[in-house]
Amino acid sequence: MRRRPRGKRILVCPQCQSGNIVQEAGSITGAVYHCRNCQYIGALVLEIEVDEDGQPLR
Ligand SMILES: [Zn+2]
Repeated sequence: MRRRPRGKRILVCPQCQSGNIVQEAGSITGAVYHCRNCQYIGALVLEIEVDEDGQPLR
């Protein structure tokens, strides 16, 4: 019997789809995010739903 995982939302990089995103502090225009995987920096990030194991839900 499979338990249905409860999804949670995480931020992923729009360039490399990595979840290794950190929010940079100190912007007056709002949140700026930094991808540690590809060094992308910007306000635009993707938000996806994942299960408890961090796998994206479809
Ligand atoms: Zn990236």
